[in-house]
Amino acid sequence: MTYLEALTRMLAAANHMHGFSSWVLPEGAGFNAVLNWWNGRERPRPHEGMDLFCWRDVDGGRKDFGAGSLAVCPLAGTVVSVCPDFLGASVFIASPDFGLIQIFGHLRPAEGIRPGAKIGEGTLVGTVAPATGNGARPHLHVSLATGTAHADDGIDWDNLQGLTLVNPGGWDLAGMRRSVEKRRAQCFLNRMTADSAFPDTISHTGEKLPG
Ligand SMILES: [Zn+2]
Repeated sequence: MTYLEALTRMLAAANHMHGFSSWVLPEGAGFNAVLNWWNGRERPRPHEGMDLFCWRDVDGGRKDFGAGSLAVCPLAGTVVSVCPDFLGASVFIASPDFGLIQIFGHLRPAEGIRPGAKIGEGTLVGTVAPATGNGARPHLHVSLATGTAHADDGIDWDNLQGLTLVNPGGWDLAGMRRSVEKRRAQCFLNRMTADSAFPDTISHTGEKLPG
């Protein structure tokens, strides 16, 4: 199971996304994209993750994942940074069991989400922040990085402290070898696998938005 699949199961359950089939990911919304998906302009740096704002149900209908949507965390960890971004705030969560840092961007952080806070699987990290008038549609930015970080490291988007960004859609949790507590990790994976409410694979349409 990829990180994105684990995350999607959590998001779909928390936001009652019944009949989820796939995320709508236009050109520019995926990992390492050079252009923005909302205005086609070049990004200041290649896209650090994935932007989630729209999904398709099994009947092909498009559904918004917009402002106010709940961002829940699939892997337990410790909040190591909360910093402003151009649409709200980004929350960095270190999950040493997996050797990963999860980053959720463009949020209004939930109460208690501050550096040093311990969070469990499924914890509400925040809600998708509303539009600010700069042209970008509200969305959840998701990044994943390998490495470790601590609450006093001063980590933010301009200072990733040597972390390596990876594709959330391609990072296989079952294949990870960095776990220092493999048993706990395996329990998590078993529980996720046992949940058959959502498909095991999540396809990405890669389609362009109308207009
Ligand atoms: Zn993004």
